[in-house]
Amino acid sequence: MTATAGLDGMHAAPDWQQRESLLLAPWAMHAADSAGRVHAETPHAFRSPYQRDRDRIVHSAAFRRLAHKTQVFTGYHGDYHRSRLTHTLEVTSIARTLARSLALNEDLVETLALAHDIGHPPLGHAGEDTLSELLADEGGFNHNAQALRIVELLEIRYPNFPGLNLSREVLDAQATRKKDGTAPAPLLEAQVVDAADSIAYDTHDADDAVELGLVTMDELLEIPLVAEAAARACDRYGTLAGSELRRAALHEVVEFEVAELVTRSRATIASLGIESVAQVREVFRGHNGMPGVRIVSHAPAVTAGKRILEQFLFQRVYRSDRVLAVRVPAQRKLTRLFEWYCLHPDEMPASFRGRIERFGVRRSVADYIAGMTDRFLDRDHDLRIGAF
Ligand code: MG
Repeated sequence: MTATAGLDGMHAAPDWQQRESLLLAPWAMHAADSAGRVHAETPHAFRSPYQRDRDRIVHSAAFRRLAHKTQVFTGYHGDYHRSRLTHTLEVTSIARTLARSLALNEDLVETLALAHDIGHPPLGHAGEDTLSELLADEGGFNHNAQALRIVELLEIRYPNFPGLNLSREVLDAQATRKKDGTAPAPLLEAQVVDAADSIAYDTHDADDAVELGLVTMDELLEIPLVAEAAARACDRYGTLAGSELRRAALHEVVEFEVAELVTRSRATIASLGIESVAQVREVFRGHNGMPGVRIVSHAPAVTAGKRILEQFLFQRVYRSDRVLAVRVPAQRKLTRLFEWYCLHPDEMPASFRGRIERFGVRRSVADYIAGMTDRFLDRDHDLRIGAF
């Protein structure tokens, strides 16, 4: 066999498949092993299935609207803080670092991270709580379940089927987030996105809250996780104060948590002898009398430290007067607009009207309202019902 014939043989597999074979660990999800899509499609000449999934998310209307959806703070609070979109990009950034450090499939991780919050309605958790009450008799409303409805049904991108026709592994990972026990055990690619989500919101909500004056840096420094990070930052840079201290300390929290996750996950993979995706799932569920193990997880002491920060944020930020003062009137607007569309379903766009027969008026109205941005909801409310 000549050298050329050998190269020809190598090129039998697509470039992306060769690249994944070279770079990914045996515990990573290889696109060549994907369970495929509901609607069969011709393979792309140079993009892997998960690269196509990522691009479908980025080009979706639901993803673009994240720019104008509340994470915690709304436009009323200023323009420093994170929106749902910038939160998503921070999660993606952290998740890709974790993925590359663990030799996981970065394309799949990027897809999962970019898609993880697309099911959020306007007004953040306030909007979700309100929709859930309004749909109490129809199974409630959950942003993780809604993300699946968006990618399987509500996004219209192709003439021959509804939804984005994403790979099975992307749908399974999103189903796992519903936590109703119906999804298969999460891949490591899904586990790093969950961990990155938590690292991102803990730290950026703390950053936003200090910048917006809801809490002081001194109060934040009473939390051991932040105090220890601030001490390390001052060791590196010298004495810091004010916004320099805030930025350096919270950056250090992210750095510490990511490093701890990478080190611990690698050690767990080695100690459990993980050699395949099947084993990742097996140890997650627990087997041979062993309890289940989430491989990508913090040490108990770090989890406990994060919990102190999260309880502080819950009491002092998410439940603060300034956040609630915006939340309550916004929830009233959402409720009024929801009931108005239930009485006037013909005023919805044709695609939403067309689903009423199958899903009922209230679910179809919820799909329409959940897709709105904060400002569209505001304007539509004032247009339909009047500003008061
Ligand atoms: Mg999130």
